[in-house]
Amino acid sequence: MKPRIPLAHLPTPIVKPQRLADRLGIDLWVKRDDATGGAEAGNKLRKLEYLLADALAAGADTVITCGGAQSNHARATALAAASLGLRAVLFLRTRDADAGAAALPRSGNLLLDRLAGAELVAITPEQYRDRAAIMQAHAERLSRQGRVAYVIPEGGSNGLGALGYVRAMLEIRKQLDLGLAGGEPFDAVVHACGSGGTAAGIAIGAALYDVARTVRAMAVCDDAPTFEAIIDRVIGEAEGLMGRDLPRAELRVDEHARGPAYAESSREQLEHVALAARTAGLVFDPVYTGKAFSGLVELCERGELRGGRVLFVHTGGLPGLLAQGEALAAVTP
Ligand SMILES: *Cc1c(COP(=O)(O)O)cnc(C)c1O
Repeated sequence: MKPRIPLAHLPTPIVKPQRLADRLGIDLWVKRDDATGGAEAGNKLRKLEYLLADALAAGADTVITCGGAQSNHARATALAAASLGLRAVLFLRTRDADAGAAALPRSGNLLLDRLAGAELVAITPEQYRDRAAIMQAHAERLSRQGRVAYVIPEGGSNGLGALGYVRAMLEIRKQLDLGLAGGEPFDAVVHACGSGGTAAGIAIGAALYDVARTVRAMAVCDDAPTFEAIIDRVIGEAEGLMGRDLPRAELRVDEHARGPAYAESSREQLEHVALAARTAGLVFDPVYTGKAFSGLVELCERGELRGGRVLFVHTGGLPGLLAQGEALAAVTP
């Protein structure tokens, strides 16, 4: 096994939102990975357990990563790095990059990035396409100053980060063995897919530990072929790390829940966010989990999963939601 530092509060519970399950006509369970911690919580923390262990093993004093301005991954990295005494540099995508990092908002994830003392660097969407090179160049600059920087890719989505979700599936297997969540494997695991690492880890772990037959990764930005290629690459990297071929559950990338664009939601998607909060007290965010849940509602309406045992992985995202009050005005009193 690869070295790992415990950062997340584990195991996270699996809950049954009965009224929501009745409404959707499926045997719905929710894995509460929004509860992997406090302000640092979400799916990224499971990946960071491996990635930051690797950073420490490499003697790093600084971690460099990237994301959208309201990136949950960047925020989790900033807070986890602070807990380990590491500095964090975050390259954040914004159309107003010329105005500099000081002009980035002070709400949601960005507030937490700032509180954690992370160094914020605003980059344009065009620069963001070259994020790997930009982060590498920064690591080299720091190295010339005698520092040791460790670069974490977007979303923590490489083979090493994906091991966090392989391990999450082992955690679910143990919960099923205890008779929790109905005790039987699921027909499908459904989750939001933004950079592919979670999907890769779930697909491997669901098959390794007989957690589910199929995985439905709900794309929140790019199309299915793009994600399939990314997920294949990440699974290949994980196989390289483990030194063997790994099984994978039948994985389907669904693109019907993408919405108008990354971080932009349709009215119906926002209504589904409100539905989950009102019917089950489950708070999904419009960027990731809300879209994935809305995609699940649509599958149920089409009758695709009728009566099936479905595990929805709640991957977090609350700080981003809290920065979007205005966008949710249409569905809140
Ligand atoms: C990053 C993120 C995802 C997507 O996970 P990937 O591994 O990047 O595909 C889903 N939900 C939330 C809340 C996230 O922050």
